[in-house]
Amino acid sequence: MDRTIRIAELSKKEVDDILRSKKFNRLAPVSCHACGHKGIFKRRIFKIGGVYDMGDDEAQNLLRHHMKQTLNLGYIHFKVHKNTDYIDVASCSKCGSNKVAFDIELNDEIFEEVAKRLNIPKDKIQSDMQAILKRIS
Ligand SMILES: [Zn+2]
Repeated sequence: MDRTIRIAELSKKEVDDILRSKKFNRLAPVSCHACGHKGIFKRRIFKIGGVYDMGDDEAQNLLRHHMKQTLNLGYIHFKVHKNTDYIDVASCSKCGSNKVAFDIELNDEIFEEVAKRLNIPKDKIQSDMQAILKRIS
């Protein structure tokens, strides 16, 4: 089987649209490793198409190599959204570095889901989490 991977960058409007999806944006940029900036990050998102197997390390390595060589983007994140694979890249709006840490945002939606699963009131989980975070930070 011939493998061909296509990468297409989303337009500004498409990026805005997909970032409105909470599921897509759950793993989001939080801080710049280069300068410590926290706040606004520029996003570039690429849609992956063609014939390939993302479970295969080779496909991921190939994409990483391509992104680094052609676009100088060394830090990329693979995401799946509505059965389509994407590459999500952030760059620091302060120093321009692409070395940006992504983290999962603990939003209301997540607390609600955890509360439902554990059958514990949401407020209790939130206050417990805050106590834990205070202790470890
Ligand atoms: Zn920076």
